[in-house]
Amino acid sequence: MGIVQINIFGEETPMEAVLGNIPKPKGRKRRRTMQEMHGINDAHTCRECEHLVKRQYSRVYYKCELWSMASSHQSDIRVTQKSCNKFKLSKGAMA
Ligand code: SF4
Repeated sequence: MGIVQINIFGEETPMEAVLGNIPKPKGRKRRRTMQEMHGINDAHTCRECEHLVKRQYSRVYYKCELWSMASSHQSDIRVTQKSCNKFKLSKGAMA
């Protein structure tokens, strides 16, 4: 038996039933990706999406405007990853 919560009447309830079945991400995986939150769209990649933002500094960083624009590598996205269900086809093709 896993961790249980005991109420004032002594009844035990599994913690999964109290908290839900979604494990809380820890450490470097604290931030959930758009694909984890909204599901994966196999038909496209982030490169084709209108929400993709290209940041040019000493190198190029790609961000999703619907997710996070923070100056952190944790919010970088890969343009080759499968798109999420918030995908919107970009009008122009990316270089
Ligand atoms: S497909 Fe989803 S994660 Fe990728 S850029 Fe578009 S909205 Fe952001």
